[in-house]
Amino acid sequence: MPKFTLAQLPYPYNALEPYLDAKTMEIHYTKHHQTYVDKLNAALNDFENLLQQSLETLLKNWSTLPEAVRLPVRNFGGGHLNHTLFWESLQKGGSKPSEKLEATLKKSFGSFSKFQEEFSAKAASLFGSGWAWLVQESNGSLMIIQTANQDNPIMTMSVRPLLGLDVWEHAYYLKYQSRRPEYIDAWWHVVNWEEVEKRML
Ligand code: MN
Repeated sequence: MPKFTLAQLPYPYNALEPYLDAKTMEIHYTKHHQTYVDKLNAALNDFENLLQQSLETLLKNWSTLPEAVRLPVRNFGGGHLNHTLFWESLQKGGSKPSEKLEATLKKSFGSFSKFQEEFSAKAASLFGSGWAWLVQESNGSLMIIQTANQDNPIMTMSVRPLLGLDVWEHAYYLKYQSRRPEYIDAWWHVVNWEEVEKRML
């Protein structure tokens, strides 16, 4: 029985149309995410003690794991956690941040639109494959960071990931080809801010 499983998408593949198209959603979820889960399970198959640990614990300690599982945990474990968070952060029709969340974003970035501008710029400028993140530090303040490949912020920093945007080409190429900024603009329309706020301290 594999330990890690792909949770059901909280909406149908076409729910985020026209911003994120059904075909991309289906391939992204059933092929890309599923592959991360399968490869993570395969890598940990012979490591009973590691299978007792949560994915978050494995990722926080990935660099001290046995060499045979270090990179698989980093890449496939990171991929599994990142995509789980990604699906949960989206919803049909999108939403608006609550007054409380908007006030917190305003405190850190000046205004909600300044936050969006800064986040979009970070996502657009990321070289190669990776993620843009809104994270919360232990003192409560917010910041925007990038990670490469499938790295999750918890692998190197003591922060809570609140919102992550996948800017791998597989996330947008079918519909947007090389136009990553168009994908980023579209993605804002389907963010589930209630879910983002739940992740805050
Ligand atoms: Mn992806």
